[in-house]
Amino acid sequence: MATIELEKLNKAYPVKSGTGVLQVLHDFSLTVNDGEVVCLLGPSGCGKSTTLDILAGLTAPDSGTVSVGGSAGWGALTCGYVFQRPQLLNWRTVRQNLEFALAGKGEPKKSWRERTDEYLALVGLADFADAYPLSLSGGMQQRVSLARGLVIEPDVLLMDEPFSNLDELTARRLRFELLEIVSEQQTTVLFVTHNALEAAFLGDRICVVSPRPARVVDEFDVPIGRPRSPEDVALVEIQRRVLDMLEPDRPARTRLGKDLADV
Ligand code: ADP
Repeated sequence: MATIELEKLNKAYPVKSGTGVLQVLHDFSLTVNDGEVVCLLGPSGCGKSTTLDILAGLTAPDSGTVSVGGSAGWGALTCGYVFQRPQLLNWRTVRQNLEFALAGKGEPKKSWRERTDEYLALVGLADFADAYPLSLSGGMQQRVSLARGLVIEPDVLLMDEPFSNLDELTARRLRFELLEIVSEQQTTVLFVTHNALEAAFLGDRICVVSPRPARVVDEFDVPIGRPRSPEDVALVEIQRRVLDMLEPDRPARTRLGKDLADV
C-alpha cells in the first residue's frame, strides 16, 4: 500500500549574500492515498518542487515527517521521478538511460530489452533507442525522461510539470497514456502542474497550494468519471474553481475569457 503522508513539513533555504533564510514550506501536510492521482497546483516558486524533492529523499526537511506505505522512508517501495527538465545521462544512449533505472531497481537483466522497447514505444521513441540525448530535441529528451520514470513500474510516481515543455498534441497523448498506465499498475501519483485544466483532466483530487511558504489552501475531489475527455465542459468548471483560488481578484470577464481560451 503506497500511501504517502507528509506531516507538518518545514523547509527554509539560506538566502544568497545575506544572513536570512527563505521559508519555503511551513507546516505543509498532504496525504496521497494508495493508487490515487493527486495534482498539486500553486504559484511559481511556492515550493512544489521542494515538496517532491523531500518526498523523494533528495532534500531533507528542517522538520516534519515523510511516510510512505505507513513507515518512514521508502523501504521496499519504489519511486519514479520525472523532473521538470530531462536530467538525462548525456554520455549514455537513450536505452542505457532506461537500463540505468532498471539496474537501480534490481530488475533482472534479461527483462531490460523488452521493458525498454515497450516504454520507448509508448513515448513515441522506438526508433531512438541508440541515440544520445544531446542529439534529440528538448521535447524528445523530456519523453525519454518520462519513459525512464515509467519503465521501473514504480509504486509511486512523482511528476514535476513533465508535459509543460511539450507541444500540446504530444502532451495530450502522453496524458492519456499516463492515466492508462497508472490505472493498470495502481500507481500512486503526485503530479505538480501549473495548468489547471491538466490537473482537472488527470487528478482524482486537486490540492491548491498558497504562495510561499507553501501550505494546502484548498483540496477537492474531481467528480468526473473515467475515462475522461479533455473536451468535457465539466473540466472547465474545475479549472475555474482552481483559478478562482489562485487568482481571486481577477475580473469576471477576464475569468470567462481566459478559461475558454485555455481549452
Ligand atoms: P516551485 O516548484 O513551486 O516553483 P521550488 O520548490 O522550486 O518552487 O522553489 C521554491 C523557492 O525556493 C524558490 O524561490 C526557489 O528559488 C528557492 N529554492 C529552491 N531550491 C533552492 C536551493 N537549493 N537553494 C536556495 N533556494 C532554493
